[in-house]
Amino acid sequence: MAEHLLFSQNLKGNEAHKPISETFLGQAHIAGTGPEGKTCRECIFWHVWKERKVAGGGIEKIPADPGYFGKRHKKTPCELKKAKCNRPILNKANRLIPHTAKACRLFESAEHVLPAKKGG
Ligand code: SF4
Repeated sequence: MAEHLLFSQNLKGNEAHKPISETFLGQAHIAGTGPEGKTCRECIFWHVWKERKVAGGGIEKIPADPGYFGKRHKKTPCELKKAKCNRPILNKANRLIPHTAKACRLFESAEHVLPAKKGG
């Protein structure tokens, strides 16, 4: 399944099309239009939702970190798992994106940035 945007079959690998071809489905805007060198990992909108029981028997959803791949994961052991961009955008794909995705122009700095790899 395609992970990146495919606007047309005429999309070439040239410089003008590069940001589009680097954009993952599920990103709020075009990759690389955000602050230089920043990735989604450092953005306040990049996280997963976890459910937590609350008093009275209800369940609330709280933002959480995606966790890390285990050492048995062949390609990226100890690396951050994918998470969603939770910036509310109409018709945005509901897809997990890697922490390495280049930041878009809707980037907002997260207060607590997770390391890309877990030590050990
Ligand atoms: S930089 Fe932030 S707003 Fe933009 S795609 Fe990544 S997580 Fe979403």
